[in-house]
Amino acid sequence: MTIEQLTSAYKAAYQKSATDIFFSPGRVNLIGEHTDYNGGFVFPCALSFGTYLLMAPNDEQKMNFRSLNIDATYSLPLTQLTEVLPNKAWANYPLGVIAQFIKRGVALTHGYDILFWGNVPAGAGLSSSAAMEVVTAFAFNELLGTGYDRTELAKIGQKAEHEFAGVMCGIMDQFASAQGKQDHAIYLNCDTLHFDLVPIKLEGIKVVIANTHSPHHLDSGAYNDRVRQCQLAVQQISAVRPIKNLAELSQADFLQVETVITDPVAHRRARHVVGEVQRTMDAVQALQQGNIELFGQLMTQSHISLRDDYEVTGPQLDALAEAAWKIDGVLGSRMTGGGFGGCTVSLVKDEAIPTFIERVGKEYTEKTGLKADFYIAEIGDGAHRVR
Ligand code: ADP
Ligand code: MG
Repeated sequence: MTIEQLTSAYKAAYQKSATDIFFSPGRVNLIGEHTDYNGGFVFPCALSFGTYLLMAPNDEQKMNFRSLNIDATYSLPLTQLTEVLPNKAWANYPLGVIAQFIKRGVALTHGYDILFWGNVPAGAGLSSSAAMEVVTAFAFNELLGTGYDRTELAKIGQKAEHEFAGVMCGIMDQFASAQGKQDHAIYLNCDTLHFDLVPIKLEGIKVVIANTHSPHHLDSGAYNDRVRQCQLAVQQISAVRPIKNLAELSQADFLQVETVITDPVAHRRARHVVGEVQRTMDAVQALQQGNIELFGQLMTQSHISLRDDYEVTGPQLDALAEAAWKIDGVLGSRMTGGGFGGCTVSLVKDEAIPTFIERVGKEYTEKTGLKADFYIAEIGDGAHRVR
């Protein structure tokens, strides 16, 4: 949809014009998977697709929420903006953000008529939820003049997701949506929130995202198991070498201490984390040296480690990645996000993209009976005002 179509849709919904339009992107993590809660780095970038928010003040003392993506509409008095809506209502995402402003003592003197439209596929692991949270935080920060910086807006979005969607996510998604920059990826330490924007100029190469459309997402049980297994490894290693996080170990350190991890599963999990931290550092260095081939190889190694040691890929993501690796012109391909479902991310030479889509799509359907979708992504800017 164009901005003109969006403003017309707003008029049709609210019988007046939108006064302000904002946008915040979805994200894809290029490398550094399951490192965030182990004190390591992640390396996401913001996408050129995301969520638009159109709004205008009203004199009803109500916050009205509509979306062009979902039919349900919500109209809430200003006195009811800190209560979670039942039945996983979509409006919990923006509501949760507004509630954070209120909890910080910000007063609302009137309501707004709000309309969302997103072009990130929802539930695919590209963080349509973070895009919606951050666009709301960015908009209210501007209109209420609260002056929070982008990192604070990301934290507000994360809190909203914890408290109003019940998803105990890390900070990466909201951070990337808030801090993203065109043609840059974000080298982020999720513990300290220290970050660097690393230029990523892909000449003749595109980031291609493939969606498994698989219903099997990493559930909180499997996620919590991984967290516990990593903690067990830290605990056992600490007997011979005091550490707080697995990310503190280099691969050489790990080889010296790995025999103290008695549980073979915890050992494999730890090996993934230590290796992935190293791969992420190497990948950033490769980019800085213009060695995009090496960057791609590290992505592929990341997938193999997530498949064999961390065991979070599953047949659908494996089918997509393994089909991609066979194609000339694919520099690297890996699962992205928590795992089991969601998407893969691949670096593909321009001339190989049609072959990629055709062959990966065909092999995926043959192996899984499902149909994959492909998106050619540009690396876009973080949250901003459109108009
Ligand atoms: P992901 O963040 O990977 O896309 P989530 O399950 O975390 O998946 O978030 C998807 C949910 O976010 C949707 O089910 C819906 O409730 C909400 N959502 C995202 N974008 C929109 C939108 N444009 N309009 C309404 N709801 C949306
Ligand atoms: Mg989400």
